[in-house]
Amino acid sequence: MWINPLKSIILMLFPTSHLSKKRELNMSKIMDGKKVSKDIKKWIIQRTKELKDSTGVVPGLASILVGNDPASEIYVRNKRRACERCGMLSEEYNLPEETSEEELLSLIERLNLNEKIHGILVQLPLPIHMNPEKVIRKVSPDKDVDGFHPENTGKLFQENPSAISCTPYGIEKLLDYYGIEIFGKHVVVVGKSNIVGKPAAALMLNRDATVTIAHIETENLQAITTMADILIVAIGDPQFIKKEMIKEGAVVVDVGINRSESGKIVGDIDFEDVKGKASYITPVPGGVGPMTITMLLWNTLEAAETFALGK
Ligand code: NAD
Repeated sequence: MWINPLKSIILMLFPTSHLSKKRELNMSKIMDGKKVSKDIKKWIIQRTKELKDSTGVVPGLASILVGNDPASEIYVRNKRRACERCGMLSEEYNLPEETSEEELLSLIERLNLNEKIHGILVQLPLPIHMNPEKVIRKVSPDKDVDGFHPENTGKLFQENPSAISCTPYGIEKLLDYYGIEIFGKHVVVVGKSNIVGKPAAALMLNRDATVTIAHIETENLQAITTMADILIVAIGDPQFIKKEMIKEGAVVVDVGINRSESGKIVGDIDFEDVKGKASYITPVPGGVGPMTITMLLWNTLEAAETFALGK
């Protein structure tokens, strides 16, 4: 019988060599999302092969893209390539902008019933004539590898998670990889979106952190961010967080992906300004971004393993 060892093996992934390294004066340690992703992917490749050899099940991900948004096309292409590199099946559905909501829902219904597909990803944003909540609810919670379905977000808040939203999940794995203690720490999350801020706060709360969520209407933000042992910022405002806004030695996680006036990709944190004051910091690009795709593969593998268990 196929036994799912995914959860128990997790500690093996996060070598203790990263634990409690004393930082040198004025030097922040970089949390390298590319490197961590690479390590996790090696393990995903191995698990995918073992699943296939022992059960014949090949994890399958279907990506649906409606319209021609260039950024979304790049995201979907990168996800498909990452999937294929890990030995998974990848199906891509590129639908024209004028696709009706009805047609999209019926495609999702067919994929829900397709035994070769274990994960369904609907690339957001959708065209304005579609209701994203309705579309997200249509994806079977068992195949909701983005972790956006209300059933999965509800389970996360009840400390009984199944599929966890990929970006916050990647942040948690990154902190674990570098041996950063979450238990009992004060985590401040800036941004309260359903896909990053809120699930990131829930994950940290589930790890017994004390969590504060701040957002655009928060008064005196600096008084709150400077209390954070771990500061997670997901606001979409280029280089908004400066060194006065963080505590000396804080761990700083930058989720933002923005284009600066000069055309450079930058985060929500002013990396150059903050890097001497933080103990650990994620770069943009190369921090949280690569972890998001990796956790999508992780969730697809887990969904396929659960499917195989029930066979
Ligand atoms: P969103 O627009 O849905 O939410 C932004 C949140 O930030 C809101 O809750 C808003 O209240 C808050 N906010 C905005 N400006 C603020 C300010 N000045 N001070 C305090 N709070 C403020 O955004 P989102 O989807 O959560 O994405 C946030 C950023 O993260 C974007 O740059 C996005 O591109 C990026 N992102 C990156 C990844 C990744 O894989 N690295 C994944 C998802 C989103």
